[in-house]
Amino acid sequence: MSISVSGQGSGTALRVVVVGGGIGGLAAGAFLHRAGIDVTVYEQAPQLGQVGAGLVVSPNAVRLLRRLGHLDRFLDAAVELEVAWEFRRWQDGEVISAEQMRGRCEQLYGESSYVCHRADLLEAIRAAVPPELIRLGMKCTGIEELTDAVRVRFDDGTAIEADVVVGADGVHSTVRGSVTTPAPATYSGMCAYRALVPAENAPEFSRRPVQTLWIGPDHHLVHYPVSGGRNINIVAFGPAGDFTDESWSSQGTVAELLAEFDGWDPRLRELIEHAGTPGRWALLDRAPLPRWSNGRITLLGDAAHPMFPFFAQGAVQAIEDAAALAQCLAAESDPARSLAVYERIRIPRAGRLQQLSHDRKDINHLPDGPEQRQRDAELGKGDALVRSGWIYQYDAETAAKEALTRC
Ligand SMILES: Cc1cc2nc3c(=O)[nH]c(=O)nc-3n(C[C@H](O)[C@H](O)[C@H](O)COP(=O)(O)OP(=O)(O)OC[C@H]3O[C@@H](n4cnc5c(N)ncnc54)[C@H](O)[C@@H]3O)c2cc1C
Repeated sequence: MSISVSGQGSGTALRVVVVGGGIGGLAAGAFLHRAGIDVTVYEQAPQLGQVGAGLVVSPNAVRLLRRLGHLDRFLDAAVELEVAWEFRRWQDGEVISAEQMRGRCEQLYGESSYVCHRADLLEAIRAAVPPELIRLGMKCTGIEELTDAVRVRFDDGTAIEADVVVGADGVHSTVRGSVTTPAPATYSGMCAYRALVPAENAPEFSRRPVQTLWIGPDHHLVHYPVSGGRNINIVAFGPAGDFTDESWSSQGTVAELLAEFDGWDPRLRELIEHAGTPGRWALLDRAPLPRWSNGRITLLGDAAHPMFPFFAQGAVQAIEDAAALAQCLAAESDPARSLAVYERIRIPRAGRLQQLSHDRKDINHLPDGPEQRQRDAELGKGDALVRSGWIYQYDAETAAKEALTRC
C-alpha cells in the first residue's frame, strides 16, 4: 500500500478529501475550491455519469450555482418552469393546486426554478472544478482516524491522508459507517419508473414548461420537459411489490407502467405509451441522522439525508450542504469546530425536508374519500408559491456566515 497526501497545494493549509463525485461531491469540490481550500474529489466510477433522468432545480440551488460561474451552461440545457407543483386529480386532471412561477418566482426569490436532465446539472457543476482535482476510478474502501488526520483507503491499495474527509458517496455510503452505526437502508415498499419521451412523440399538454403531478390512490406520476424541451421526463411512483432493485440500469416495461395507471385520466396513456423501456427503481428509506460528523469526518447529500423525491430537494439539499460546508471550513482553522457549525445549520433544514418528503408519500397516495378531499382543500388554500418561500428564499452561504458569526 502506498500513502500519499491529498491535494494540489493551493489555498489554505487544510487538505480535504471528498469521497463520491455525484452532484453533492462535485458541488463540494466546486465550493471548496472556490473558497481556496485544497480539495480533491475521489469517484469510484471510471467516468462521470450520463446516468439519471430529470431533476427540478429550485431557486435555493440556482442562486448558489450562479456563484460558481457556469450557470449559462446549465440554463442552455434546462427549461425554466412557468408553473411548478401543478397537482392534478388522477381521474380527470382537475387542477388542485399550482405554483404560478412565471414573472413571480424571480421577483419574490431572485431566481427562477428549472427542470433539467441530471447529466446537464452535473456537467455545470463539474465545470467549476479543475479536472486535476477529480480522481476517477477510485473506490473508497475504508476510513481510519489518526491523531490529527484521517486516512482514506482505496480499492487499488493506495491510501491518502487528509485533514477532513467528506462522505458524498450516496445512500449506500461507505463513509457513513465512520460517523454512525453502519446499517443498510431499508426498502420503502415503493418504486419509481423513470422515462424520457422525445417531445415529438409526447402529447401537447406534457410539453408545457410545467412540473405536473397527477396524484391518486397508491400512485402518482410527475412529468416535465428537459434538455431544452427536446424530451419529456416521466417519473411515476407506485407499490414495489417484491421488486427491490435499486440501480440506474434496472428496467420495467410500458405495459407494467400502463397497468399501474389503468383507469387514470386517458391523457396519461398517450404519454406513457411512448415511454420506450422505462427504468425501474426501488425507493430506499432511512431515518434522519442525529449527527453527520465524527471528528474530522462528515457527510453530505444522500449519504447524510437520503430522501424520497416528493419535494424534489435531494440534489438541491446536497448543493446547499456543499456551499455551507465550504463557508464553515474556510472560516475556521479547527475542523471539529467548522463541522459542528456545519451540522448545526444543515441538520435541521435537510432533516425537515427529509421528514416532509417521507410524510408526503401517504398524503399524495390517499384513496378517494374525506381525507383526500381535505388534502385537496389544504393544497388549494392561499398562494402556493408564497407557501414554498421557506424553501426557495434560503441562502445556504448566508446562513453559514451568520451561524459562524454567532459562535
Ligand atoms: C426518482 C427520483 C427523482 C428525483 N428527483 C429529484 C429532483 O427533482 N430534484 C432534486 O433535487 N433531487 C431529486 N432526486 C434526488 C437526487 O437524485 C439525489 O438526492 C442526489 O442525486 C444525491 O446526490 P449525491 O451526490 O448525494 O449522491 P449520488 O448521486 O448517489 O452520488 C454518490 C456518488 O458517490 C460515488 N460513490 C459511492 N460509493 C463510493 C465509494 N466507496 N468510493 C468512491 N465513490 C463512491 C457514486 O458512484 C456516485 O457518483 C430524485 C431522486 C430520485 C430517485
